[in-house]
Amino acid sequence: RTMQIAIDGPAAAGKSTVAKIVAEQLGFIYIDTGAMYRAATLKALTAGADLTDGEALSALLKNVDIRLEPGEQGQRVYLDGQDVTEEIRTDQVTKSVSEVAAHREIREQMVQLQKELAEGRGVVMDGRDIGTRVLQDAGLKVYMIASAEERAQRRFEENRTRGIRTPLDVLKMEIEKRDRMDSERKESPLVQAQDAVLIDTTSLTVPEVASRIIGLAKE
Ligand code: C5P
Repeated sequence: RTMQIAIDGPAAAGKSTVAKIVAEQLGFIYIDTGAMYRAATLKALTAGADLTDGEALSALLKNVDIRLEPGEQGQRVYLDGQDVTEEIRTDQVTKSVSEVAAHREIREQMVQLQKELAEGRGVVMDGRDIGTRVLQDAGLKVYMIASAEERAQRRFEENRTRGIRTPLDVLKMEIEKRDRMDSERKESPLVQAQDAVLIDTTSLTVPEVASRIIGLAKE
């Protein structure tokens, strides 16, 4: 039986929404690796660090304490002991995260942490390089995509529930820019793993995608 599920794909394809459900149904833990890069980015922004300098960033983040903990309303993210769950979703962090995540030094540190968190446990992990790098031996790898229009629309609705009102066309541009940076970087670019199952979620509902993945995990 599959104990490790890797879910990768472009921004706002529904990975975390689905991953949470799959983890809950299978009794696995869920690890949101994007939240870890976001927390690292928040720390860099707060410190006023130069985001183009991988070495300086890596020195700043050397002893960073990033924790993902289950809370009553879903997973909480802690940065050096402080709850930053909301702060890591701001526009400023979203716009800077791909630049921080492109540095080899930062990726090595995050990948190490992610491997430790997953070690010996039933886990659903989502991100950009989970199937290609972090959990190369995962029993199930999924590559989730959706059209850019659909992804922007989903992010728009998610934002609305949180009181954020960025226009749809701006969201679409931001999403496409982030995908381009994530796909074109040198270190572990966003790409479908050879042994990943492709799921186009454009016209599927969340429960449909989740049950498809659970079905695959039980095969
Ligand atoms: O998944 P989320 O949108 O929160 O990820 C934010 C950013 O973090 C991505 O756009 C990408 O630049 C980076 N990331 C990454 N590798 C991962 C997860 C996220 O480079 N495994």
